[in-house]
Amino acid sequence: MNTHIRLKTRFAPSPTGLMHLGNARTALFNALYAYSQGGIFLLRIEDTDIERSQEDFARQLLEDLRWLGLDWQEGPLVGGEETSYYQSQRGETYAKYYAQLEQLEQVVYPCFCSPQELALSRRVQQSAGQAPRYADTCARLSPADIAAKLAKGLQPTLRFRVPRGQTVEFTDLVRGPQKFACDDLGDFIIRRADGTPAFFFCNAVDDALMGITHVLRGEDHLANTPRQQLILQALGLPIPQYGHISLILGNDGTPLSKRNGSQSVQELRSQGWLAEGVVNYLARLGHTCSHDHFLSLSALAQEFSVERLGRAPAHFDEQQLHHWQQVAVSHTTEEQLWQWMGEAVQAIVPTSARAEFIVAVRPNVVYPQDALHLAQIFFTEDWQIQADAHTVIVEAGMAFFEEAVKTLGETQADYKKWVALLKDRTGKKGKTLFMPLRAALTGETHGPEMVHVLPLLGMERARGRLQRAGERC
Ligand code: GLU
Repeated sequence: MNTHIRLKTRFAPSPTGLMHLGNARTALFNALYAYSQGGIFLLRIEDTDIERSQEDFARQLLEDLRWLGLDWQEGPLVGGEETSYYQSQRGETYAKYYAQLEQLEQVVYPCFCSPQELALSRRVQQSAGQAPRYADTCARLSPADIAAKLAKGLQPTLRFRVPRGQTVEFTDLVRGPQKFACDDLGDFIIRRADGTPAFFFCNAVDDALMGITHVLRGEDHLANTPRQQLILQALGLPIPQYGHISLILGNDGTPLSKRNGSQSVQELRSQGWLAEGVVNYLARLGHTCSHDHFLSLSALAQEFSVERLGRAPAHFDEQQLHHWQQVAVSHTTEEQLWQWMGEAVQAIVPTSARAEFIVAVRPNVVYPQDALHLAQIFFTEDWQIQADAHTVIVEAGMAFFEEAVKTLGETQADYKKWVALLKDRTGKKGKTLFMPLRAALTGETHGPEMVHVLPLLGMERARGRLQRAGERC
């Protein structure tokens, strides 16, 4: 018999909002871990919070993951062994396991405390300097008390009775040995009063039923893990190995959120960030890669190791993200870059000039609007001479541009011959030769290499611009 168990990781987002960089990184680490071991990356949608979950967010999540290239081998759209990978459709499964717990002696009990009573009890504990935990109000109700409350139509939650005087111990894949005293946990709710499952429960049960072997998730879930292990133990279900990854902090030192610079994957995508750059950045945020090369997902998977996950908080650095975007642009195929530049660019750049345009502008563009800006300079009259370019033009003087126009004609706009001849005639060289030409032809003092500028503009447009520059002097 083959006893080898295939590693299975998962990403289990709650569709209560758009996917942000933090979730994207959690998804990435789980995907890379599975890919690195020839395992399975599973996707499960945790949409039991009916009020906050939205179908649109779930749909967008799938799209965002696909865009990032994080293909899942089990889950929505691809199927697998389970009937559904949406928790909202798994009520029958949870009912079965609730019933199992209810049949066990002293493992769960109905709790009739109202949210107001619970909030009050928490406040009292906090003002006495105690960590809030359930005050056991309903822990010792007699069967008769319970029957009477139910007869009144009260709808209880279901609480898990945490065994007293014990500890839960496990080795976290990232943070090492962990030990929690059960007495500190407090009995916790596993089914809400409206019958819907609480996070602790369905998350743990599904991990077990779906055969998840390894869970990488945010360290904000570390405190949930002992509770989830107790549930799985009580049900006799297998417990995955957990690794809690450090949170990402924004530039103000607080967890990355919309307020301090996080953007949704959807926003990043619509602004023209490339998935390959985002992924290369995230793979290095709280995880060390052995080198700084731009890597494909499969190469990143080979680099991935849980030992390389850091315990210290990871700091979001927009400059780094920008750096990887530039690197991604430099690695993208001509066709991809063309699509990325978008319709506005495609409408301006003639097909015959497309290849040359891409070669020329690739080192100078980071976002699609940079490409649009350059396309306008090269192929339209919708451009302006910037102040610094104007200064350069005026310094070069009218005679220089007259000579530039003359030599352009004489050399039939052959760039190399043109600048060589102009150099001879004017005695200018280096920056004093090239900068006025760049300023006059593009209106800017930086940009694509001059050798590309002239062919893209064409002789007529170039002549006109040189003449107009001369008139400015
Ligand atoms: N649905 C949970 C969340 O989005 C999943 C937590 C986990 O990965 O276990 O936070």
